[in-house]
Amino acid sequence: MNEVLGLKAKLGLDVFKPDREPHIRIRQGRESDPRLRLAVRACPAGLYTEAGGSVELSIDGCLECGTCLLACGPEVLEWDYPNGGAGVQFRFG
Ligand code: SF4
Repeated sequence: MNEVLGLKAKLGLDVFKPDREPHIRIRQGRESDPRLRLAVRACPAGLYTEAGGSVELSIDGCLECGTCLLACGPEVLEWDYPNGGAGVQFRFG
């Protein structure tokens, strides 16, 4: 019988290999851009946090889904895929 896993348990099955540099960055001076609040709400891995009127990104655990880029736009985020061999490996549970 298959066990039903919750979202956090499923994300915990994935493997993340760090890249040399973060593959997503908030552009300098854009940390308070209101569009980043969309990323705080929309990032499925919960990697954006808001504190004191600005938003921070912790890239560990990124699913490379592109939702944050769609929400904020390239004016706010520098977004690229990780280099080959780095990033997420999905392990569907
Ligand atoms: S690409 Fe997806 S998982 Fe990664 S930071 Fe953006 S919204 Fe979150």
